[in-house]
Amino acid sequence: MSLDSGCDNLLERLRDPATKLVVLTGAGISAESGIPTFRDPGEGLWAQYDPQELASAEGFRKNPKLVFQWYAWRRAKVMAAQANQGHMVLARWAQRFPAMTLVTQNVDGLHTRAGSSQIIEMHGSIHILRCFDRGHEGSWDDLPSQWTLENLEPLRCQICGSWMRPGVVWFGESIASSDMEQIGEALANCEVFLAIGTSGVVYPAAGFLAEARRQGAFTVVINPDSAARGTSHLFLKGKAAEVLPGLDAALEVRISKK
Ligand code: NAD
Repeated sequence: MSLDSGCDNLLERLRDPATKLVVLTGAGISAESGIPTFRDPGEGLWAQYDPQELASAEGFRKNPKLVFQWYAWRRAKVMAAQANQGHMVLARWAQRFPAMTLVTQNVDGLHTRAGSSQIIEMHGSIHILRCFDRGHEGSWDDLPSQWTLENLEPLRCQICGSWMRPGVVWFGESIASSDMEQIGEALANCEVFLAIGTSGVVYPAAGFLAEARRQGAFTVVINPDSAARGTSHLFLKGKAAEVLPGLDAALEVRISKK
């Protein structure tokens, strides 16, 4: 990785393990694990639907079967996927930086699979099911073992009979207040903020970089699309699974030289 002055500045800050680091990840960090982002052209059946329609309570009310099938299909993709080098570097950094806060918009659980713990999954998790009416928890294990998209019927709550839905935060729904409190605290104390693989259009996460910057943090965006650079101090153009290992290697060199 070529070290321009911005990158040098970042490495110098990261050299200190006490640095208060906040990392925000989005769908792009899982792209190289084979999980489509919302901005990919889409695949098969789903290419014809707007994800916002599939990821909203209104869309679910209109067509619970379609939405349930979409999430079952996405979860099957996640279950078959592996965490990539980008997730792995962040799991190592959680050891290196005791004051690091990892916030993800992803619902795929791949950070956990890479070995990260204490992740703020601000948009919930696709691995959880709860009922639409009253929030009773269910389990994907209740699906028939040999389901196909053709024969898949949405599950019903065993307690109240309402439809089961994934435990994710849909468009128009609120992020858990405990998550927002933790994120607010982390941003208020943040020294380095990294936004990785996020288009920066979905709020409230889209506002975190500006907030971190306002609080005096050095802000960095990692993304192959220059449109995502926003008001960051440093833009590292490239795929997360390539840029993060490059940054990690450069950091090792920097640490070993001092
Ligand atoms: P997004 O689809 O809006 O944007 C993805 C971003 O990732 C884009 O800016 C794109 O340029 C970038 N990108 C693509 N490939 C990349 C790579 N290899 N490395 C780094 N960046 C790459 O996704 P978002 O910003 O996360 O926000 C939209 C919503 O999508 C979120 O609410 C999230 O919950 C949801 N979502 C989650 C998943 C998942 O869990 N994996 C997948 C799709 C969407």
